[in-house]
Amino acid sequence: MTQDIKEILISQSQIDARVKELAGEINKDYKGKCVFFIGVLKGCFLFLSDLLKEIKLDTNVDFMMVSSYSGTQSSGVVRTLLDLKQSIEGKHVIIVEDIVDSGLTMNYMLKNLSTRNPKSLEICTLLNKPSCRKIKVPIKYSGFEIPDKFVVGYGLDYNEIYRNLPYIGVLKESAIKER
Ligand code: 5GP
Repeated sequence: MTQDIKEILISQSQIDARVKELAGEINKDYKGKCVFFIGVLKGCFLFLSDLLKEIKLDTNVDFMMVSSYSGTQSSGVVRTLLDLKQSIEGKHVIIVEDIVDSGLTMNYMLKNLSTRNPKSLEICTLLNKPSCRKIKVPIKYSGFEIPDKFVVGYGLDYNEIYRNLPYIGVLKESAIKER
């Protein structure tokens, strides 16, 4: 698995430090409030769990699964595969995402969730690829801006592999062809 990684873009210690900073910002911005975190499966699972351990507020946690990717290519069509179990009406909501690329997924989530009347709705993403944006989305909390490279690790996969790497790495071309 690690032999398929061309380059470590963001190390485990850089991720740890940045996740603590993001949690600190959220703790400050939402002081005295209850925050409803929506994790976007599957890529968010490590980020969300590390982030939540640093949150000092009352929280709700729920998950959605949406799909627009197959392999390394976005299909452009976003679908809900798994919906929330709880209502977000009147709640302060933060969507927790692994990466914002074209912006299509977050645009879909914002439109979909805003119809459910949350009190507020913001995006927190670990990674942001601004050069790939097809549609503008307002990102309140962003961990790292990265170049237009297909990355894996810390929850992000390629065909369901590499999610358990503790860092963000760039896949070798050969690994993309072989898998
Ligand atoms: P968007 O809709 O913004 O184009 O893409 C969002 C989703 O595409 C992310 O949640 C993630 O699942 C997937 N994605 C986008 N870029 C990458 C990438 O570089 N690596 C991986 N593994 N997934 C990506």
